[in-house]
Amino acid sequence: EQLVAAPLTETKATCCYCGVGCGVLIQSDGEKVVAVRGDPDHPANYGRLCTKGSTLHLSARPALQQQARALYPELRLARTDQRERASWATTLDFLANKFAATIRDHGPDSVGFYLSGQLLTEDYYVFNKLAKGLIGTNNVDTNSRLCMSSAVAGYKQTLGADAPPPCYEDIDQADVIFLVGSNTAYAHPIVYRRIEDARKANPALKVIVADPRRTDTAREADLFLPILPGTDVALFNGMLHICLWEDLVDLDYIVAHTEGFAELKQTVREYTPKMVAEICGINEADLMQAARWFGQAKAALSMYCQGLNQSSSGTAKNAALINLHLATHQIGKPGAGPFSLTGQPNAMGGREVGGLATMLSGHRDLGNPQHRAEIAALWGIDAVPEKPGKSAVEMFEAVRTGEIKLIWIVCTNPAQSMPEQAMIREALSNAELVVVQEAYRTTASCDYADVLLPASTWSEKEGTVTNSERRITRFKSVLPKLAESRHDWEIAVEFARKLEAVMGKDKSLFPFAGTEEIWNEHRESTRGRDLDITGLSFKILEEQGPQQWPYPEGATTGKKRLYEDGIFPTASGRARFVNTVYQPVADRVDARYPFHLTTGRLRDQWHGMSRTGTVAQLFAHAAEPAVAMSKTDMERRQLHNGDLVHVTSKHGSQIFPVALGEDMRAGQVFVGMHWGEEYVSGRGRDGDGSHGVNALTSPAYDPSSKQPELKHAAVKILKAEFP
Ligand code: SF4
Repeated sequence: EQLVAAPLTETKATCCYCGVGCGVLIQSDGEKVVAVRGDPDHPANYGRLCTKGSTLHLSARPALQQQARALYPELRLARTDQRERASWATTLDFLANKFAATIRDHGPDSVGFYLSGQLLTEDYYVFNKLAKGLIGTNNVDTNSRLCMSSAVAGYKQTLGADAPPPCYEDIDQADVIFLVGSNTAYAHPIVYRRIEDARKANPALKVIVADPRRTDTAREADLFLPILPGTDVALFNGMLHICLWEDLVDLDYIVAHTEGFAELKQTVREYTPKMVAEICGINEADLMQAARWFGQAKAALSMYCQGLNQSSSGTAKNAALINLHLATHQIGKPGAGPFSLTGQPNAMGGREVGGLATMLSGHRDLGNPQHRAEIAALWGIDAVPEKPGKSAVEMFEAVRTGEIKLIWIVCTNPAQSMPEQAMIREALSNAELVVVQEAYRTTASCDYADVLLPASTWSEKEGTVTNSERRITRFKSVLPKLAESRHDWEIAVEFARKLEAVMGKDKSLFPFAGTEEIWNEHRESTRGRDLDITGLSFKILEEQGPQQWPYPEGATTGKKRLYEDGIFPTASGRARFVNTVYQPVADRVDARYPFHLTTGRLRDQWHGMSRTGTVAQLFAHAAEPAVAMSKTDMERRQLHNGDLVHVTSKHGSQIFPVALGEDMRAGQVFVGMHWGEEYVSGRGRDGDGSHGVNALTSPAYDPSSKQPELKHAAVKILKAEFP
């Protein structure tokens, strides 16, 4: 008998890891993913993939799927019970009755939903509508709060809308690229490849990197500013001071297109080069050089990420950098602008549909009565509730105290990724009911689930995502859903319909048969807004490929670059300078906790490793977590590579092996964010309180964006002694 191989198909999709949003072509035999390659036509990557993207097929192997995936619904009715396999009908009926009873007895704000930037735009849209439209609570937040909310607040305060102005093509047209708070080579590798190409094409291009660590990105820079953690606002104010002093600002642009400069000018007078160099711990001459290159550039492009965002002053950091761009007119022209790099693949889509506690669809604000009325009219409901919902840290704090009784977690792992893990785990233990909707049953949060809802994942899902440059990609499923898993949007819609029935509603708000209908409703919510996509359709996205927003009715293409006309979406049409003042990190180093701990990504892992952790090759770069320390500090403490140390902050303590960090300054240590308790404890969950690096991080958050300071904690380090 002759074996006949099934014919292979190749389907366009996007990589499910970072916000670069690379296009991939998935090769499949209809039952499994056989291989992936970069999509040569996708404008984000033109065929390239990094180590994570190029191994996507290895995380989709059938045997692994059976071991690691959630395959069927599981339910337990009492905490002391084990979860048992249950049918979808039983599970969703139970949930609908439980939610209805809790809402009736304790009000709609007694429930909360915690979503993820990994979800597709359509998933996000229906969960947001379920909470704000049907249940009547704004308790919907997302792990994007931990990722991009300071960038959102920074854009809105200065430019009037949550819209990154530049595009990837601007990398080729810049003559200065300022990478700040971003290890681009590791966290956004294909963007970094584009920067390398631009340097080859234009040897005069200057790359400036500001970062506490001498990362691989910093090593290649023309100028590296090793700033102390959290000092970015002082750096940007200092650069503006120098630009003012040396007449490198564009007064005509400031007068014609901005407001609020006089007050900021008074503030930055104080930020002398000497003072800023001292605050930032950098050389004064380097600071002068950075300001001059930036101010004299024909086109300066800043690219930034969590080093700015994950901070108790994240909004001010974003605004101070945008101030610098506005004052020097480095915005709204080719090769220039402030460009936030989104961490997750669809953090942008979540923002577009208003999947946060204080936002509404179409970049609307919950606090604006007209915006609430517009969404109520679109959804056909009386009103959207006015009271703001709880942001991520607030939400889990409310779960801990019992104010929120039922928490539904979708496609994210707060039992690893949130700061102050002791509080988060107490919350999950105290909740009356924890629902976890997940593709992987291996995450730490699944251990707390009373109800586990199996979700489909990459290569099975279909819908849309938006990447960092505002580009929407539509993709289709390659494989059928695994076992009894369902698409995230399907679970939300079916639950919503059951809840409507229990609540006695005679007309459903969820008449959706597929993602296109959901997306069309989302599209309508953008009409007349800064992100207007009323000229787009699934058909256009399929026929013409990924498109950037805005793309209003009548347009034939999306908009590459925003604000080229100097008109901003503010009440006056002018951009606003924000009077930014430097504030130190929340967790200050002192004699008791003398080290700055910073956290971040490693090259080959993604988030909590639920997917990348299944691919052996991705451990070749870093096999285990370690605390990276400078040679000076290791010698002072008589530590050697591999020695185990207690790393202790005010929030918790963890044991890590020490590793010499060539990139570390004395007084600073670094731990990768990816490992949770599986590695660290090795003795079962909750056995010894080991929960990865976020056991150490602070829940302090930015007052505007509510984004926690996951990037920094003050710690002490003591060698672990074993009897
Ligand atoms: Fe995926 Fe990001 Fe790598 Fe592109 S750069 S292949 S989107 S992880």
